[in-house]
Amino acid sequence: MKKILFVTSEAYPLIKTGGLADVSGSLPIALDALGQDVRIAMPAYADLLSSLGDLPSKRINQAGGAVEIFETKLPGTSIPVWLVSHEGAFDRSGNPYLAGDGKSWPDNAERFALLCRVSVEIAMNRMGFGWKPEIVHCNDWQTGLIPALLEDEVDRPATVYTIHNLAYQGLFPRELFRKLGLPQRFWSPNSLEFYDQLCFVKGGLVYADRINTVSPNYAVEIQGKEFGCGMEGLLRERKERLSGIINGIDEEAWNPAADPLIPNPFGLGGMAGKEMNKATLQQRFNLAVDKEIAVIAMVGRTVQQKGIDLVIEALPKLMDLPLQLAILGSGEKKYEQTLKHWNSLYPDRIALKLGYDEPLAHLIEAGSDLFLMPSRFEPCGLNQMYSQRYGTVPIVRCVGGLADTVEDASPSNLEQGRASGVVFHEASAEALLQAIMRALDLYKLKPQWRKVQRTGMKKDFSWKQSAKKYLDLYGLAVQDRQGKGNRTA
Ligand code: ADP
Repeated sequence: MKKILFVTSEAYPLIKTGGLADVSGSLPIALDALGQDVRIAMPAYADLLSSLGDLPSKRINQAGGAVEIFETKLPGTSIPVWLVSHEGAFDRSGNPYLAGDGKSWPDNAERFALLCRVSVEIAMNRMGFGWKPEIVHCNDWQTGLIPALLEDEVDRPATVYTIHNLAYQGLFPRELFRKLGLPQRFWSPNSLEFYDQLCFVKGGLVYADRINTVSPNYAVEIQGKEFGCGMEGLLRERKERLSGIINGIDEEAWNPAADPLIPNPFGLGGMAGKEMNKATLQQRFNLAVDKEIAVIAMVGRTVQQKGIDLVIEALPKLMDLPLQLAILGSGEKKYEQTLKHWNSLYPDRIALKLGYDEPLAHLIEAGSDLFLMPSRFEPCGLNQMYSQRYGTVPIVRCVGGLADTVEDASPSNLEQGRASGVVFHEASAEALLQAIMRALDLYKLKPQWRKVQRTGMKKDFSWKQSAKKYLDLYGLAVQDRQGKGNRTA
């Protein structure tokens, strides 16, 4: 049994803004099922704390003021969660990272540096919990300083740093480096400096014993210029320590046979429920109720990364095709406004719900025929896996985790019974359009269509396999740590 401290800035169902929360809410459960002792540390966001009622807590005085750590459990499990609170850091309502105007909170560097410092204290068993992890598993830039700060500790745990999305790097002006009082030796291009800025991600990339990303393909892609976001050189240098492990999905929450958020359950044994869900979805969205027409869905952030601009560019031609579009998402205002405009032009063909709506996301997966993910880059992606499970055939660009999890409906894949979606390559509206036309052709050929649906529905996207790979990775990190010895010892 290994003792693992899992540090994250969000975890489903406590708080979620994206895929990181899904991983943080699922991987610890899968590790727990494998007999590991895993505990989570994360911020005590105000809305979260007030929703949890009275919790036991510990107060510890630190140089920067009192830190209070509330203790709870990941809902429905016995996994301990430590919620880190500090006056002025997380005790405000709203999004964890963004203020009401959609811009980053101005003190994000201080807020997440605090999370890192307190996590180091927990990791070194200085918080009075009587528990010292062998591994600290850090996730994304908000936790990036932890491997760096732990370097100075004698007898520190091993560190694993997971990149969920390299495009978010935690970059801050140089003044912040001074303000945070970080050791001077960290101000170097070989350390936390990135072109005269403080870079949280580099704390993980430079100092973690092991680095991984959320798909094998993305682990390769980020070593090149196109996807490396300026970190490709460093990642190539550390490639012996870099690997990719595909995310699993929460197979209980996303199970079409027992999903409480959809009106009609269905599965490999019977697909009638899916047809009924399609009618419900069309009604709910004021689309013409028609079981023949293909419903193509999109759920996610309306940002360039997700290729929403490609979809918008393709819309005039898409409206000449026999299809309906159902879009749920929020993100950049300019894309939201353009989508609203198209929705008003074709109210019975384009359905749009702006905002975050978990139950609706389930109904969309359950009631649609096809799912669009034309991402420019995609570290792992979850919706293409949910889609396959729900018999909703994904149309994806061949990048990152999408390439690892969807098999194209090419003639040979179809013949071998491997095809589970439609995969295209170029990031252009034209390539997307061609892919959609190919998908619509497949949709018409019912026996083949059903085979593709069934192939997707049968796939194993559970966390079990991936959790075992994380365990192996933790083992390697501990070995590396032992091999390295103590810098300060
Ligand atoms: P991201 O890059 O945003 O993390 P992922 O595909 O990895 O993308 O994960 C996104 C997760 O958030 C999925 O579970 C998806 O269903 C969910 N999601 C995104 N936007 C919305 C929304 N507007 N409403 C409901 N769920 C959403």
